[in-house]
Amino acid sequence: MKKFDYMSKYGYEQLSYFYDKSTGLKAIICVHSTSLGPALGGTRFLDYADEDDAVEDVLRLAKGMTYKNACAGLNIGGGKSVIIGDAKALKEDSVKREAFWRTFGRYVESLNGRYIAAEDVNTTTSDMDFIAMETDFVAGLESKSGTPSPFTALGVINSIKACVKEVYGEESLNGKTVAIQGLGSVGFDLARKLHKEGAKLYVTTRDKAKVQKAVEELGAIPVGLDEIYDLECDIYCPCALGATVNDDTVNRLKCKIIAGAANNVLKDAPVHGQILFDRGIIYAPDYVANSGGVINVYQELLGYDEDAAIKKINFIYDRTREIIRISKETKTPTYLIADQMAEARIEAVKNLKRIYNR
Ligand code: NAD
Repeated sequence: MKKFDYMSKYGYEQLSYFYDKSTGLKAIICVHSTSLGPALGGTRFLDYADEDDAVEDVLRLAKGMTYKNACAGLNIGGGKSVIIGDAKALKEDSVKREAFWRTFGRYVESLNGRYIAAEDVNTTTSDMDFIAMETDFVAGLESKSGTPSPFTALGVINSIKACVKEVYGEESLNGKTVAIQGLGSVGFDLARKLHKEGAKLYVTTRDKAKVQKAVEELGAIPVGLDEIYDLECDIYCPCALGATVNDDTVNRLKCKIIAGAANNVLKDAPVHGQILFDRGIIYAPDYVANSGGVINVYQELLGYDEDAAIKKINFIYDRTREIIRISKETKTPTYLIADQMAEARIEAVKNLKRIYNR
């Protein structure tokens, strides 16, 4: 589909290319929606196979942020930026690194607040500090809210408890079996939190040392990368890749609950979300379960206060309960209820603005 047709069909506001010859920076910033406020979303740095892949990614991710931010009750819109290149090579070049990120900061500044950058895949809070030298429109700074992963993990725990309450009548995780896919920044922290609450852990990840650490520190049981889909467990917790609930896996899963940190867990939401619903597996919508990180970053825009951020993150429990309740009442898959809630909030606030504008 042609870009303007696509933007018109899915309600995008802006797609901008930025290039800087001296640093080699190639960035694309997408503002999906500013209906609820400036578009907040991370900066992803990847060696994309080609430019079209990067554009596809930034469009998809920016729209996802609109829904995530709206459903979390934040007064911000959705956007995203992607940088095309080799993140590892840049990390090793300290002189170029500063110029590169400050150049990106200038480009962010040129959007005059329509987009707010933050950390994402292959970018760090210290990269954000460089961006902050050139613009105020960046959040998630090392010196302020810091790394979002522990807050994302806290949100995931809240969504898991909401689902556990639905299935078992109480929210205790004691004795529950949880299969964690991915022991990265979020997954390992989550594993520790779950262990502390008495859950029994199955783990898989690409990094063998992390698996060993989870075995020694948390008494976790290692499972194979593919074996995780066939496990008898209470909760399947995807914390690695997207699209892990797909044609191959959706009928293999023997869990009662799916809740994790990964984005876009359902490969094809209308198909796989419906199958999960029909099979009676409770699915905590990904962008609700993993919104703890962005809620924490958002708090920085208001003046950072960790207690206030945690209070908002704990609300993920209530939001997930509400989604499950409506899903049951209307016999509609949870992913769709979350989308409808986000869209309804955006529409309601747009209407409110119309009234004030008179
Ligand atoms: P990370 O890169 O630190 O960790 C990813 C982990 O997944 C690694 O341990 C890696 O070994 C593992 N992995 C990769 N492929 C795998 C496979 N096929 N099977 C099993 N494990 C595999 O990432 P992260 O920051 O922990 O984020 C995890 C997920 O949560 C990502 O999808 C990310 O987009 C999403 N997310 C993260 C945050 C955050 O605050 N970091 C917020 C929202 C969403």
